[in-house]
This record gives sequence, C-alpha cells and structure tokens, in this order.
Amino acid sequence: MTTTTPAVPSVPSQAPDPASDPLAVLGAGVRVPLADGGETEYAALDYAASAPVLRQVWDDVAAYAPYYGSVHRGAGHLSRLSTRLFEESRETVARFLGCRPGDQVVFTRSTTDSLNLLAAAAPAGTRVLVFESEHHAALLPWRRRHDVTYLPVPRSPEEAVRTAERALRAAPSGPKLLCVTGASNVTGELWPVRELAAAARRHGARVVLDAAQLAPHRPVDLAALDVDWVAFSGHKLYAPFGSGVLAGRADWLRRAEPYLAGGGASRIVARRADGGVDVEWHHDEARHEAGSPNVIGAYAIASACRTLTKAGFDRLLRHEERLLTRLRAGLAAVPAVRPLSLFGPDAARVPVVSFTVDGWDGDAFARALSERHGIGVRSGLFCAQPLVRALLDDTGPVAGCDGPLQPVRVSFGAGTPTAHIDRLLRAVRELTE
Ligand code: PLP
Repeated sequence: MTTTTPAVPSVPSQAPDPASDPLAVLGAGVRVPLADGGETEYAALDYAASAPVLRQVWDDVAAYAPYYGSVHRGAGHLSRLSTRLFEESRETVARFLGCRPGDQVVFTRSTTDSLNLLAAAAPAGTRVLVFESEHHAALLPWRRRHDVTYLPVPRSPEEAVRTAERALRAAPSGPKLLCVTGASNVTGELWPVRELAAAARRHGARVVLDAAQLAPHRPVDLAALDVDWVAFSGHKLYAPFGSGVLAGRADWLRRAEPYLAGGGASRIVARRADGGVDVEWHHDEARHEAGSPNVIGAYAIASACRTLTKAGFDRLLRHEERLLTRLRAGLAAVPAVRPLSLFGPDAARVPVVSFTVDGWDGDAFARALSERHGIGVRSGLFCAQPLVRALLDDTGPVAGCDGPLQPVRVSFGAGTPTAHIDRLLRAVRELTE
C-alpha cells in the first residue's frame, strides 16, 4: 500500500492559543491521507526524531522576522537589533542550562555538530570514554583525533557507574573525557548523569552530556549535574530552525583551532610584509561560529527555552507521565509487543518507547500505522545500532519474521493529546490481532 503526501496539506483553521496552553504546538488538526482513500487527523508520535514547533516559538519568530538583519556585520538599525537578539539568545540559553560564570554557549547546527565541535576542540590525544550504547552522534565523532575506550552496554544505572569508574581508573594519565547521554533515544531511560560525573571527577576526567533527548523533557543544569559541556538540538526542543547548542567550559574551546575558518571567527587578518596573511582569532564563542550565524535558529531556541521555563517542567512532566503510563500499560496488554529496555521496567524514563512486534517487521508496522491510521512513528535502528542490536539479542527472534528485524519507536511530549495514544493502542491491537 502506498499513499502520497498531498501537494498542499490541509491545515486546521484554529491553531491552539498559547494563552490557553503555553506549551501548545503547531500541527494539531493537520489532516493526512489514508490508504483507503479517506483521511484523518495526523497523530505525531515521533517527537524523539523531531518535535513539532511550539506555537509560542512560531509566534516569536514571526514577530521578529520583519526585523531580521545580519548579525555582527552591519551598522544599520536592524543589524544592530539582530545582533542584540542573537547575543541575548545566548544569555537565555545559558540561564536555561544553569551555566557557570565563564561558560560559553556556542550556537551550532545540531547535537551532532556540537559533539563534533567538542571532538575537534579537545586536546590532541584526549582519552575519550563512551558507552557503546550511545547515539552515533555521541559514539563516533571522537575516533578521528582521539583514543577512544568503548564501554560495554550496562544493564543498570549502577553498573554504568561501576563500568565507567573502572575504565577511568585504568585510563592513562592525560586529558580524559567521559561522554554520557541524558536519556536514551531508543528506550527513553534516564542515565545516572550526576553519578557518572562524580565518578569522572574522582579520576580527573571531564564530562560532556548529550542532552538531545533529555532537554525537551527535564531541566538540565550544568552546574548542578557538574558536567563540563552539554549539547542539544533545537529541532528536538520544539524549535526546528536549524540550530543546536554546545555550552560549557571555555578553556578547551578557547585554545582550539576554530572549528570553521572564516569571517566572524577571525578578529584580525593582516598582510605580512613577506607575503601571506596572519590571523588572530576571537577567543569568545565567535571563534567557533565562523560564517553568518543562524540568528533565527538561535532566537527560536531561546524562545523555546523561555517558553518551557515559564510553563514549568513540572507541568510538562505530569502530562508526559500520565500518557506514558497509559501507553506502556496498553502495550503491555498486547502479547505480540515486546518492549526494549536496558534498565528494566521500573527505570525512570522520558516518553520514548521502542518495541518489536511478533509477526511484523518494524518498517512494515510503522508504514501500516501511517497508511491505515494516520500515525507517525519511527522504525529502524535509531542511529544507535550497537544498542539496538544488544537489545534485540535480549528479545530473541521475533515470531513470524525472518528478514532483518527493526523495532518501532513511539515518542511524544508537549501538546500530545490522550486521543493520539489511544488511537495508537487501538491500531496496535488491530494490527496484531
Ligand atoms: N543524541 C541523541 C540521544 C539523539 O537522539 C540524537 C538524534 O536523534 C542526536 C544525538 C543527534 O541529534 P541531531 O540529529 O539533531 O544532531
């Protein structure tokens, strides 16, 4: 069965009002075609890939758009306004992340970009310790320039800390960096970040937190967690305008070669008497932001940070916990569904749930959810292939499936209505009957 995306999607006439729900998102009421020729309201349950845009973020960007101008480059009023908003966005993000005095907030393209930037900035020969269970964005950037120790996939938060501690103790002297995730993009399970950071400190190592899946669901406070850097993406934080963030300690960033060489990163470029040019690079964030910055992306992230803070994570957490309990209980009642879990059913988690379905390849299952029920989920190995393969070994062969097995992932957050979870559960029951 195939369906085609309409050239002009139908949009709801009434978008939710941020005054009545500060965490309202766009997309409510969007209708999508079904394979049987009908249509239904889209159920977006793939927030872990990219979350919908917060209504407030969209409104803030729209209000700013007429005043958009170049950053750090023009004397005109709108250039100066844009420069001020860009730098204020940095301050907003710093407050959102609990940055310490002297920390830098570098605007990047994404979490992947942020972690690659840190890999480029870490002193040559840094020993990087990273769990095999990480997202590829956190697993892979280090190997080009550094010595990497891959830590085996742990089966409890306590084991994660013990494993890291053992590896940190055995690591040779020299700079060390432990890369940890805040919440798994496969199982949603929370990692013991504070305890891992404490272990790193005991052994003189630094810590970078991949908060791509954590920041949209829980407050992240660098100082309280005692991590050195945090990375996240705007498009998972309800601000899909092409920006991400690397925030934290300035020293490695200041000493490193600029991530990209070019205008904006360079302070003085002088002709040498004997030919050629000498360059003096900036020492602040601009050092790693060469080229024209994505001011709208940065402004959108800052708007999302403000909106989430103002609405309060407690409120969001209550909403997500209620739906997560409903989803997991509903899935548990379907015998063909086998959830993937690293730390067991009682582990604390964000609303990201992956599972295999007896008799179904995940790709086909996800397609059926879309074509027959208008539900958007993800299937595959979720850019965390070592982790997913380890979890699939646990579940054993899936009955009725001899092809390459793919799990299905359901994820949600702000603005998800109960009806979407219920529709998913009905659809899973129907497809497995
Ligand atoms: N880290 C985690 C835990 C993720 O889930 C993702 C994306 O799914 C990334 C890193 C990479 O994020 P991006 O694709 O925005 O660079």
